[in-house]
Amino acid sequence: MTTASVLVEALSRGLPGDRIVTDPDVLAPMSHDEAEWAPAGLAAAGVRARSEAEVQHVVRTCADLGAAVVPRGAGTGLSGGANAVGGCVVLDLSRMNQVTEIDPDNLLAVVQPGAINNDVKAAVAEHGLWYPPDPASAPWSTIGGNVATNAGGLCCLKYGVTRDYVLGLRAVVGGPVAYGEAVRLGRRTTKGVAGLDLVGLFVGSEGTLGVVTEVTLRLRPAPVGTPRTVVGAFADLVSAGRAVARITRRGLTPAVLELLDRACLQAVEDWKHLGIQADAAALLLARVDTPGDAGAAEADAMAATMADADAIWVEQSTDDAEAEALFDARRLAYPALERLGPVLTEDVCVPRSKVPAMLEQIAAIAARRGVQIATIAHAGDGNLHPLLITPPGDDAARAAAQAAFEEFLDAAIALGGTVTGEHGVGILKRDGMRRELDPGSLALQSAVRQALDPRAIFNPGKG
Ligand SMILES: Cc1cc2nc3c(=O)[nH]c(=O)nc-3n(C[C@H](O)[C@H](O)[C@H](O)COP(=O)(O)OP(=O)(O)OC[C@H]3O[C@@H](n4cnc5c(N)ncnc54)[C@H](O)[C@@H]3O)c2cc1C
Repeated sequence: MTTASVLVEALSRGLPGDRIVTDPDVLAPMSHDEAEWAPAGLAAAGVRARSEAEVQHVVRTCADLGAAVVPRGAGTGLSGGANAVGGCVVLDLSRMNQVTEIDPDNLLAVVQPGAINNDVKAAVAEHGLWYPPDPASAPWSTIGGNVATNAGGLCCLKYGVTRDYVLGLRAVVGGPVAYGEAVRLGRRTTKGVAGLDLVGLFVGSEGTLGVVTEVTLRLRPAPVGTPRTVVGAFADLVSAGRAVARITRRGLTPAVLELLDRACLQAVEDWKHLGIQADAAALLLARVDTPGDAGAAEADAMAATMADADAIWVEQSTDDAEAEALFDARRLAYPALERLGPVLTEDVCVPRSKVPAMLEQIAAIAARRGVQIATIAHAGDGNLHPLLITPPGDDAARAAAQAAFEEFLDAAIALGGTVTGEHGVGILKRDGMRRELDPGSLALQSAVRQALDPRAIFNPGKG
C-alpha cells in the first residue's frame, strides 16, 4: 500500500465516504488558493469536514501517520496559505457554515468556520446588528479564513480588523494536549484577562497552530443614517497619496478611504459597464458614516483636504446608486484585472505619512522592471495593493513581476512598513517576513510553533 492509500484508509475509518476526496480532478482545485504562482504540492487526499468531531479525526489520523493538515476555507487567500504540501490532507471547512447563535442581548454571534463573511453580516443584520470586518472578498471568504489571516477590509480604518471582533474560538490542536483535542479559547464577555491571550495568538496564525472549528464574534449595533461619500480625482497617484497623508494628519477618520487608479477603473468598466468614467489617474473614495451635522462637517473637511492636496475635482454624494457603483468598482477591481492575465497581488503596508513615498517607489520599481501595474489600496490604512499584471504565458514578464514584487517588500521595510498588511505570510511572503522581523521575534515565533505543534503537522512551510 502507498503512504497515501494508508492515510486514506485510516481517514475512512472515522468518516462517511462522501467526506473524502481522492479524485485528482477534484483535488487539484482544492489544493491552491488565489495566489498567482505560489507553489502547491500534491495532496494525498481532501476532506470536506462537517463537524468538529470529523476535524478531530482528521487531525488525530494525520498526527499518527505524520501527514500534514492544510486547513482551507474558501481558498480566496492571496499568499498561498491554503496551498497543499506534498502528501498532506487538505481539510476543507467550507461545509461547516452555520451561524449557530445570535445573542442580541450581549452583541455576539457564534459561527462555524466555513460561514461566509457576507452571510454572517446578513444573519446578524436581521437582529439590528453589524459584523464590521469587510474584506473585499466578503461575498466568498469564510470567517475561519478571515480569522486565520486576521483579514482586514475597507472599513478597518475606523472599525478595526478581524482580530478586534474575535472574542473566543474553539480549535482542534496538538502539542501539549493530545493531537486531535478540541479546546475552547477566549470568552463571551466584553472584557477578560484570565491567562495569556491565546485567541490573539490564533488570530492570524494561518492554520499553523491548529484548526479553528467555531468562532465567537463581537458585534456592533447596526449603523444608523445614510453614509456620505466623498470622491476626489487626482492627476497622479502620488498626489492622491499626499491627500491620504494630510487626511490622517488632520485627524479625520472616515469609515473608508480607498484608492483606485485609472487602470482598475477601466478594467471594471470594460467588464461590468457600470457607467464609470475613468478620466482621472487616481480616485480617492471616502465614506463618512458619522450621522447628522457632525457627519456633514466631517465630509466637508474631507473634501476640503482633498482639494488642498491638489485634487482635480472633489464631489460629495449621498446618492446610493452613484456611490455604490464606485465601491463596486473597488471590490471588483481584482477579478476585473485577472481577466487581462495572471495578476500577482502585493499587500505592503506603510505608515500613512509614507504613502506618497511608497507610491513613488512602486512606480519607479515598476518602470525599471518594465512591469505593468494597477493599484488599489486601503489607502487610509497605508495598505497598498499594487497588482502586477503579466501577459499570459510570458515567462520574462513573470520573472520581472516577481523581482519587482520582492523589491516592493524591501521598499516598504525601508519606509518602516510591513510586507503584509492583511493577506498573510503564506508562501509568498516568507522571505520578506524574514527580512522584516527582528531575529529575536523570529526565534520566539518558532518556539511557539514548536511548543504548540512539535510534530509540525499544521500547515507546515507557511508563515
Ligand atoms: C477579490 C479578493 C479580494 C480580497 N480582499 C481582501 C481584503 O480586502 N482584505 C483581506 O484581508 N483579504 C482580502 N483578500 C484575501 C482573502 O480573501 C482573505 O485572506 C480571506 O481571509 C481568506 O479567507 P478564505 O476563507 O478564502 O481562506 P483560505 O484562502 O481558504 O485560507 C486562508 C488561510 O487560512 C487558513 N485557514 C482557513 N480556514 C481555517 C480554519 N478553519 N482554521 C485554521 N486555519 C484556517 C488556511 O490554511 C490559509 O492559511 C481578497 C481576496 C480576493 C480574491
